[in-house]
Amino acid sequence: MEKITIKNSDEVRERQKVAARKYYHSEKGRVAHRRKNAEYYEKNKEKKKARMKIAYLVRVGKVIPGKCEVVGCNEKTQPHHDDYSQPLKVRWFCRNHHLELHYKRI
Ligand SMILES: [Zn+2]
Ligand SMILES: [Zn+2]
Repeated sequence: MEKITIKNSDEVRERQKVAARKYYHSEKGRVAHRRKNAEYYEKNKEKKKARMKIAYLVRVGKVIPGKCEVVGCNEKTQPHHDDYSQPLKVRWFCRNHHLELHYKRI
């Protein structure tokens, strides 16, 4: 009896393994997907660094935040990077207009 149980559980496990493998391989463009993820991660790292840098410079007073680029808007601003590889090249937008800008881009 015990033997059968073991065999059965082995079989089940094997079947699950096969199913998992099948699923893995059935995902087309998995490699591309992974590459995209890696790219995303790299980009995010760059983004984070750029943001931290400008935030630091603002904190120590080396960079004075500008006015929101939207005419007539007087809200408190935050930096926007057009290019994260240039951390010091920023444009200033209030939170709302900043979000709007990003939404439009997507
Ligand atoms: Zn931005
Ligand atoms: Zn604004």
